[in-house]
Amino acid sequence: MTGRARPTADDAHSDVCVVGGGPAGLTLALLMLRSGARVTLVERSRSLERAYRGEILQPGGQALLDALGVLKGARHRGCHDHDGFRLEERGRVLINGDYRRLPGPYNCLLSLPQQHLLTDLLERCRAHSRFTCLTGTKVNGLVVEGGVVRGVVCGGGSDGLVVRADCVVGADGRYSAVRRLAGIPYDRIDLFDQDVLWCRLTAPATRTVRIFRAGGNPVLAYTSFPDCVQLGWTLPHKGYQTLAERGFGHVKASIQAAVPEYADAVGQQVRSFKDVSLLDVFAGSARRWAGDGLLLIGDSAHTHSPIGAQGINLAVQDAVAAHPVLCEGLRRRDLSGRTLSGVAARRRPETELATRVQVMQSRMMLSTGRVSAVVRPKAAMLVSRTPVYRSLLRRIAYGDQALRIRADLFQEGEPETL
Ligand SMILES: Cc1cc2nc3c(=O)[nH]c(=O)nc-3n(C[C@H](O)[C@H](O)[C@H](O)COP(=O)(O)OP(=O)(O)OC[C@H]3O[C@@H](n4cnc5c(N)ncnc54)[C@H](O)[C@@H]3O)c2cc1C
Repeated sequence: MTGRARPTADDAHSDVCVVGGGPAGLTLALLMLRSGARVTLVERSRSLERAYRGEILQPGGQALLDALGVLKGARHRGCHDHDGFRLEERGRVLINGDYRRLPGPYNCLLSLPQQHLLTDLLERCRAHSRFTCLTGTKVNGLVVEGGVVRGVVCGGGSDGLVVRADCVVGADGRYSAVRRLAGIPYDRIDLFDQDVLWCRLTAPATRTVRIFRAGGNPVLAYTSFPDCVQLGWTLPHKGYQTLAERGFGHVKASIQAAVPEYADAVGQQVRSFKDVSLLDVFAGSARRWAGDGLLLIGDSAHTHSPIGAQGINLAVQDAVAAHPVLCEGLRRRDLSGRTLSGVAARRRPETELATRVQVMQSRMMLSTGRVSAVVRPKAAMLVSRTPVYRSLLRRIAYGDQALRIRADLFQEGEPETL
């Protein structure tokens, strides 16, 4: 057993212990609860507030969440529909990724605060009597017996809580503790030339996710609920420290130069380092997603760049793919690494494809330098008119279209308290 606490007879026992209440963990928790499993969720944060997290939800994720019955409620809490994304260079549109041309009904990019999605998912989980929710509780150890993961150790000190489970699911994000505690190697790949510095501004709404270049570094911008624009200013990968050493005034002036139309708003609203948040952009992948009694899904299994808004989609799709594998494993009492690796067999090719597409998008949209400044506009305009690009756009929007929620595994309708 890793960690300091020892299991006792009174420890909670679940079929599945999900570590991490993000999109992957909560989607899986709800799917398993609806299939009659006893689920314990362990989430280190006390609240569902997630500033500077993924908000843009692709059509594929929207469709699955709608089939699960959570999209309407999450939307109702507040969101913005975007018609698609646009790559712009000094006011000229190079690529118009128009989602209205995709098959409906989810043909938009949805800007939905993660908190709204997570709140709806959690409320639905809470309506199930077999759900135990431990928020404000951090996993810092695994219970391992005879090489098989049997649970997690939470909190610190000798009185740390132990949750025993037939299967532990690590859905605890890009810096996954479960992955580390299980000794699963993770290949971090610095494929991208940029990091992103995020800030939020009160500014008029737009209906397009924009990637634009107006003089300085490229910028990502989209309208975020309630009435904000979320700006992602790109800077050279690992270059923030050097930049910050020149002082906040310099950082602010660099952002202002890159966003002339928002320069005044940045001047008034971005007042100190506290108003910006750095995202270290990298891709990464766990060498194994499964072990005996253990499964990794979402960012803990594979991490992506924010470009192309793939993370939430992939996280939700992982949960949907893991659901039948876990149900079958529980039924047969076989939650071996061999059984659970069925999830990776289905999902790994998808996630690798997403990374390859992101690298391409990043080179096409964010590259800097004199040669690319000349080549990029022509290449972008040319590529965006080809059938290959149109099929790529569908792929970016929907991901694995064959993936369906296995409602036949649900034991009941939603509890009446909803
Ligand atoms: C700034 C930013 C912008 C992004 N923009 C987009 C976007 O627009 N669209 C998109 O699709 N994706 C975007 N992404 C990526 C997206 O947010 C992630 O891919 C997605 O949230 C992954 O979901 P997840 O459930 O796997 O992990 P997470 O959302 O990271 O959730 C992991 C959860 O585990 C909890 N946790 C961590 N450690 C422990 C522990 N030891 N014990 C208990 N709990 C723990 C965390 O508190 C967290 O709630 C963005 C990411 C960032 C950082």
